[in-house]
Amino acid sequence: MTTVVRPAPGAAAGPDRPLSVPRTEPFPDGPLRDRRLGRAHRDLRVSVTDRCPLRCSYCLPAEGIPWLPARSLMTAAEIVRAVGLATGLGLVNVRLTGGEPLARPDLVELVAGIVDLPAAPAVSLTTNGVGLADVAGPLARAGLGRVNVSLDSVDRLRYAAVTGRDRLGLVLEGLEAAREAGLEPIKINAVLLPGVNDGDAEELLAFALARGFELRFIEQMPLDGGRLWRRDRMISAAAILERLGASHRLTALPETTTAPAARWLVDDGPGTVGVIAAVTRPFCARCDRVRLTADGQLRGCLFSDAESDLLGAMRAGASDAELSQIFRLCVADKPAGHGIGRPGFRPPRRPMSAIGG
Ligand code: SAM
Repeated sequence: MTTVVRPAPGAAAGPDRPLSVPRTEPFPDGPLRDRRLGRAHRDLRVSVTDRCPLRCSYCLPAEGIPWLPARSLMTAAEIVRAVGLATGLGLVNVRLTGGEPLARPDLVELVAGIVDLPAAPAVSLTTNGVGLADVAGPLARAGLGRVNVSLDSVDRLRYAAVTGRDRLGLVLEGLEAAREAGLEPIKINAVLLPGVNDGDAEELLAFALARGFELRFIEQMPLDGGRLWRRDRMISAAAILERLGASHRLTALPETTTAPAARWLVDDGPGTVGVIAAVTRPFCARCDRVRLTADGQLRGCLFSDAESDLLGAMRAGASDAELSQIFRLCVADKPAGHGIGRPGFRPPRRPMSAIGG
């Protein structure tokens, strides 16, 4: 049985064909679960824009990529409505990302709108940190809980070599502003690239330990807009740990059920280091994430091109029940794993910046 969703009179521009939302799904109640592994989902990543001023070579090519048209980006009200429905379905951890979320002028109001929802979800932010010094305080006062800042080198020239921009000073100011604003724990995300910043692992760790930031290295994934990723050119988790292990005592910490980073205590603590080995040690069997792109497409998996047009349905006048059903079906159909390394694997059509990291 299906529900046909037609545009409401006077609704904002949406698809001109009726939408078909099937009514049946395998787990009608309780947390959202997928059919294949029955994974319970708690985490919603919302890309609030695909725009970003940096050109990290593992993410965006130097010449950039065409941005989504402004009219296809979700408005703050549409995002708050989508998140409200998601929290009602058990997606209670909300991370705002992009693109660069700080590129969105209404970010503070957006955070306040999400925090004000009846479920009062925990809201966190992933940012390049470049504009963070100006808004860390307002974001914290609006109810933002935590922040992850991307920082691939603490050397000015190598930072610029990775990101294509001379912005290290602004990121460092942003990190301190985040600490002063109480946006803790502050996590730092770093991607190492061979021949560019692969010698920076120890310096990054020293920087993070000295300031009480939690450093996590992310294995480079085939998600760059320039399509340059090569399995034999990426720095693996094993290589990172070998380098750090040469000068530090690393003690493995017990894995949590859903967090993607494996963590080690450094030199008996209290500092830790994490490695997100998405390529060499995939954690898909524990994945509890759903993604909403800046143009309102729901995705169960970063690496699958399957998307459900939540925003199109919303703009066509779908009811809350019908939109919730789109969430359920998206999660129900989630693939078992990303398949990197399997014969026939293809990177997703959209790069990371357009999906939301
Ligand atoms: N602009 C924000 C930032 O810089 O954190 C949020 C979006 S960015 C896509 C989110 C995270 O994805 C960053 O930590 C970035 O390092 C990571 N990322 C982007 N492309 C990646 C890739 N190909 N492999 C691994 N991580 C990647």
